[in-house]
Amino acid sequence: MTMTSANIRRAFLDFFASKQHQIVPSSSLIPGNDATLLFTNAGMVQFKDVFLGQDQRNYTRAVSSQRCVRAGGKHNDLENVGYTARHHTFFEMLGNFSFGDYFKREAIQYAWQFLTEEMQLPKHKLLVTVYESDDEAYAIWLNEIGVPAERIVRIGDNKGAAYASDNFWSMGDTGPCGPCSEIFYDHGEHIWGGPPGSAEEDGDRFIEIWNIVFMQFNRQADGRMDPLPKPSVDTGMGLERIAAILQNVHSNYEIDMFVGLINAAAKITGATDLSDKSLRVVADHIRSCAFLIIDGVQPSNEGRGYVLRRIVRRAVRHGNKLGAKGAFFYQLVAELVKQMGEAYPELAQKQAVIEKVLKLEEEQFGKTLERGLVILEQALQQVEGTVLPGELVFKLYDTYGFPVDLTNDVARERNLTIDQAGFDAAMAEQRKRAQQASNFSADYNTNLTTAQQSKFTGYSEETNQAVVLELIKE
Ligand code: ATP
Ligand code: MG
Ligand code: MG
Ligand code: MG
Repeated sequence: MTMTSANIRRAFLDFFASKQHQIVPSSSLIPGNDATLLFTNAGMVQFKDVFLGQDQRNYTRAVSSQRCVRAGGKHNDLENVGYTARHHTFFEMLGNFSFGDYFKREAIQYAWQFLTEEMQLPKHKLLVTVYESDDEAYAIWLNEIGVPAERIVRIGDNKGAAYASDNFWSMGDTGPCGPCSEIFYDHGEHIWGGPPGSAEEDGDRFIEIWNIVFMQFNRQADGRMDPLPKPSVDTGMGLERIAAILQNVHSNYEIDMFVGLINAAAKITGATDLSDKSLRVVADHIRSCAFLIIDGVQPSNEGRGYVLRRIVRRAVRHGNKLGAKGAFFYQLVAELVKQMGEAYPELAQKQAVIEKVLKLEEEQFGKTLERGLVILEQALQQVEGTVLPGELVFKLYDTYGFPVDLTNDVARERNLTIDQAGFDAAMAEQRKRAQQASNFSADYNTNLTTAQQSKFTGYSEETNQAVVLELIKE
């Protein structure tokens, strides 16, 4: 079997189906059961109520390939895209779940069997981590699976450390929680990075592929940890990460699903260096944008819609950097349909809608992008020190529609940071002015501030909404 992404996805579902798991389809990126969660960011999201005992299913074992977005909210990988070999804004999480059925022993055995027997990964390339006090999981890895002690790492809470793993999972401040065990793959010493728990763990050498959560306790408001009557298991493995290993490449961006997208992006933008970071960004972003639109998100100025808008604008900026002339981003949808349409038939069904929404959004932003970039460029020439002033960041946001993360992205390429506090202050000031202005009932347009004018003529959601509604009716 050639290890295409499609084959790996299939093999995973089949393997767990053969272990009496119910195959459950991916749920929407908009969580149906949790208004506090921005996007579905893990396979367990659709099972949250089952874990909490508030929802009953007629199965106690499940397996899925869940589409996930991690851009904004608690898990935000937007800033990692283009910088690490392993992060996307959109990815697929393969997961097996036990609802009060099997626990640590089987969960570990299944994962190991899938990786080393079904996928035939060499055992000596794998490392595992356990929570520092989880002697039970440690003993299973050591004595039952036979992983040598030097390749089992105990990881604590590491609160505060920027990149360090955190091997204790919880759903919230109270409720189900428990220790994790993670499986890492060593991509080889020619790649920079250190093993989990070390200072260099965020490099691209040792890549976390599978996270196994043992839901074991019910944390009470007073901090007490009551044992759960029926411990459960929640696991997640990134399809793109396992595909990279099986396809003998060291970056997710070199796997089958991405090669076509990156080539298409190069063709459309005129880029010649296929290893350009901006091509990876664009290829990543078309996936999240298309799937968000499929699941009903539209570009807007708040909430989920604003996350989508930010991703589109970021992609447009990177396209511009690559040399794209005019709207280019929407043209990638066709290639995405080619790459992922079989696994996700709704991609092909909604291709026209996705293209229209993206094209419109792109055209609206394109008008101000170039002017904003000129202003930014001038400021970059003049900036003293390493921080972009908050006032400037605000002006770019307010007048040119530059989301803060976009300006930050440009700044980072020059080793600069932005003055977030200064931006926040300018924003608060504008809100105050708007509030005061709204206390007057008469409204003569001539008196509008720049901010209000740009709102007035700016990025109208209404237009986009109308297009979407029109297309949905068709
Ligand atoms: P990392 O430490 O690499 O950021 P994580 O610990 O945040 O990963 P989990 O929350 O444990 O990731 O998610 C389970 C699995 O999903 C990971 O082991 C990884 O294989 C995959 N995964 C997580 N985030 C991403 C992402 N942004 N892009 C692609 N795959 C991801
Ligand atoms: Mg992460
Ligand atoms: Mg991790
Ligand atoms: Mg993890």
